[in-house]
Amino acid sequence: MAIIGIDLGTTNSLVCVYRSGRAELIPNELGEYKTPSAVSLLEDGTVLVGAAAKERLISHPEATAASFKIWMGTEKPLTLAGRTFKPEELSALVLRQLLEDAKRHLGEPVEEAVISVPAYFNDDQRCATKLAAQLAGLNVKRLINEPSAAALYHRYSAQTGDCQLMIVDFGGGTLDVSIVECFENIIEITAIAGDNRLGGDDVDRAIAAHFCQENGLAEERLSPSLRASLYRQAETAKIALSSAPAASISLQQGETRYSLVLTNDLLRRLCGPVFQKVRGVITRAMKDRGRGGRLNDVILVGGSAQLTVFGDFLEELFGRRPHVAASPDEIVALGVGLCAGIKERAEDLQDLVMTDVCPFSLGVSTYSRRDDKTPHMAVLIPRSSMLPASHQERFYTLNDNQTGLRFEIYQGEGYFASENLKLGEVEVQVPPGPAGEQSAVVTFTYDIDGILHVSAQSSGGDFRERLILNPNLHLTEEGKERAMERIRQIQLAAQGDQRDQLLLERALRLYTQTIGQGREMVASLIGYWKNLMDCGDRIQRRRDYDRVKERLDMLEAAVEADPLEGGVWFGESEEEDFGQYFDGDLEE
Ligand code: ADP
Ligand code: MG
Repeated sequence: MAIIGIDLGTTNSLVCVYRSGRAELIPNELGEYKTPSAVSLLEDGTVLVGAAAKERLISHPEATAASFKIWMGTEKPLTLAGRTFKPEELSALVLRQLLEDAKRHLGEPVEEAVISVPAYFNDDQRCATKLAAQLAGLNVKRLINEPSAAALYHRYSAQTGDCQLMIVDFGGGTLDVSIVECFENIIEITAIAGDNRLGGDDVDRAIAAHFCQENGLAEERLSPSLRASLYRQAETAKIALSSAPAASISLQQGETRYSLVLTNDLLRRLCGPVFQKVRGVITRAMKDRGRGGRLNDVILVGGSAQLTVFGDFLEELFGRRPHVAASPDEIVALGVGLCAGIKERAEDLQDLVMTDVCPFSLGVSTYSRRDDKTPHMAVLIPRSSMLPASHQERFYTLNDNQTGLRFEIYQGEGYFASENLKLGEVEVQVPPGPAGEQSAVVTFTYDIDGILHVSAQSSGGDFRERLILNPNLHLTEEGKERAMERIRQIQLAAQGDQRDQLLLERALRLYTQTIGQGREMVASLIGYWKNLMDCGDRIQRRRDYDRVKERLDMLEAAVEADPLEGGVWFGESEEEDFGQYFDGDLEE
């Protein structure tokens, strides 16, 4: 049975498998490798995942969610059309869609997966990812850090000599920087640093904020749908700038049309604060690596790595332009696919060895004296330790006749324990005695998945052990069964209809973005196409698909065209032509 590799991204997710000696991306039903990580609840209670759901961010913002990966590991409730989901449940739905696609493509059952996570994901976020997989019916063979996966694939495919590389993964919502040393068949990650809240989304936000500022609009007062439309255009304009000198954004609110022309110079200015943060992360990775020496290369991966202004910024920083990986938004998935191959024990991968490091410091809170009020961190595993890492330390009682030693477990770099993320606690009993006589040894083991195991052994012989530990993420068997049942009851929208559904959702989205005559045209298209969808007429849909799509493309181009030229498309002859084509069918 195949093991699949999944890049569960903030913006896009991909699935990959190791077959016939190579990592192979698996296309979704639309024939694309990238499935937008967006989920939307339809009126009939089924769930759409992917491109069609992404369209509904604008037409049905209250029923749709995207970028929920940033909430993984938290309790944030996400509401879709009145139904509340946990972040891991929405991720489970994305995983289930990818799993369906993989099963269909491979024609065999799939139950196991390797999943990538941002290197900088903390323990809660990793556990939430594992839970999401379980809810989707997948057994996780391994969690691998995204930049490590990218390094693995780069090394495997580039076949360069021994080298030291920096991999910068700049995606939609996260930045991950890792330094990798490649020696013969060994790939050693020597440092990682990152920011879980920094990516292309921030660039879009900066553009949108600037747009509002320039046009005297209050962003928070825009309707959800208008706001989603602004963000979509900000993103489109940003992407267009990689190949054009300027791009325009325009928004229609009531009778008024607002607009902005975006150029790379302006974008560079808007990205200033984002790039300063990137600089901080890169600096930290450089300082953390165990060994010195020069980098041989800097490799850019992730969708946002394609930003021209990002390349400019790094060129200034490094004195040399880093090169963008061959397929920057697929390389992580390809690496996860290789990792799945290694797990399947594919013969040709047997020699490949990869080591990884711990992204955070891990420790327990301690008091230095009896009257000490603010506990600080006693670090057992410092960040950037090579995995798996294990360390022991002995702690003594502070008070006479103390009956137990309680250890709070933390992750993070703050001096005071309270500045860090509390992962849980473990307590052992000790026999009564004078202060400092009784003790306990605490052992931390951080495994290759980045999951922490803690045990404590007291001088009195009491022994406790636990896997960490967020009670909200570590469900009881019964709780897990209930959560899985809840997710199982949600049906994914019908397979085989994705392409047609996407067309409908696009039209619905366009409707919200248009006014006047253009809107009426979109409305007729919707009426026509929805009718074909509702009556299940697949053959007629197959016949009409290309022409309906062409029409929609044209209407969309008109909407996105320069505002000054808007309206030109909606000439009378167009309408005539339109009417003829749909002859009769358009009448209700
Ligand atoms: P993630 O790993 O977070 O799911 P990706 O690596 O797929 O994300 O990157 C998504 C981000 O990349 C989005 O913010 C998107 O706007 C941006 N992006 C995609 N293509 C380009 C491009 N050609 N130029 C600039 N940004 C891009
Ligand atoms: Mg990514």
